[in-house]
Amino acid sequence: TNERPINFGAGPSALPETVLEEACKGLINFQGTGIGVAEISHRSKEFTSLVASLESNIRTQLDVPPTHKIIFTQGGGTGQFSAVVLNMLARHRLLHPDLSDEQRVMDYVITGSWSKKAEIEAKRLGGASVHIVVDASTKSKDSKSFDAIPAHEDFDFSADPALIYYCENETVDGVQFSNDEQSSASFPFHLLPAGGLWPLVADYSSSFMSRKIPRIADHAVIFAGAQKNIGPAGLTILIVRQDCIVDVDAAAKLGAIPVPITMSYKINADAGSLYNTPSTLSIYIAGLVLERSKQLGGVVYFESLNGRKAQKVYAALREGETKGAYRSKVKEGSGSWMNVVFDVLGDNAESRFLAGAEALGMMALKGHRSVGGIRISLYNAITEEQTDRIVAYLKDFATQNT
Ligand code: PMP
Repeated sequence: TNERPINFGAGPSALPETVLEEACKGLINFQGTGIGVAEISHRSKEFTSLVASLESNIRTQLDVPPTHKIIFTQGGGTGQFSAVVLNMLARHRLLHPDLSDEQRVMDYVITGSWSKKAEIEAKRLGGASVHIVVDASTKSKDSKSFDAIPAHEDFDFSADPALIYYCENETVDGVQFSNDEQSSASFPFHLLPAGGLWPLVADYSSSFMSRKIPRIADHAVIFAGAQKNIGPAGLTILIVRQDCIVDVDAAAKLGAIPVPITMSYKINADAGSLYNTPSTLSIYIAGLVLERSKQLGGVVYFESLNGRKAQKVYAALREGETKGAYRSKVKEGSGSWMNVVFDVLGDNAESRFLAGAEALGMMALKGHRSVGGIRISLYNAITEEQTDRIVAYLKDFATQNT
């Protein structure tokens, strides 16, 4: 099936072909049961062992410490915009029952449109005031776009917030925190308020399992939808430190916002992620994807592969920039490994770029409708050979169009 086009879409996105072929079989006959995986009980021993192996693959490959639970749920990243607020406010209420809503603070780091959306949801839910740690758009060249991770000295954390929120990879804007602690675009862990056990919440929707998570043990909650790097949409993965899995009903009695039952971390954790029917098909395919990653060398393998892929694409982009063919939307050092965003310069050049790519079997390169331009998504399923094809095209197009 070499003729399948290369899917550079931002999500849902490409999945490994061998996994798709295996999943076709599982849809008809799952592990010799004669029943398809989408038809089998989520409480059957066959299915519960899938959940266990998916969890163990995540725990092992990311070195999730024993202080943290892995929870599978639904509702996507957007569901977590609400759930993190509700669960972390409940935790803070139990710790500090006497604070007023104005005194209770939630810290938001705004580096792109996804963290902005999360902040809007936090304000909508109420229960605490929202403090903007930094808003990268105010530092950008046009004072409104998101084109870089701000300098560390621009971050202003509160003393004892209920949560500290950031988005590790901004899928739309193509801005990502560096995984190198020495880089000025790294997350400034060293500036977090004194005291440890930080209420640090990270949206890893579009970079989960693409590389190691820096300082994973220092996070309260890490969440991600499956639909970029590891599977079909429908599955949401949470890594939650145990002190953040709290009795939300006890907190509600003290005045915290009541938490819908499917959003309660404790309800889900206590039920082993099977409180209600989970996204069984998505769990199955994510399991196949991570089993394959394990065979290849785990997330460490993908970290070096993805680093090389990004390096090649950014190099071609910079070369095209000097020729006047492209303009990167992101400053050097803050560019995402997963989503490379840029403009093609010249009259009609963007549509010619897209049409030329499609003619060569490279699809889904149009940037998000809110920012336009081109977006090349380089998730785990994109191979180095496929990356070389887009790199060659970037170079050819730049040469022919300048
Ligand atoms: N956060 C990020 C970084 C995302 O890329 C997305 C989806 N593209 C979301 C949150 C929202 O996720 P969902 O569509 O699963 O609700």
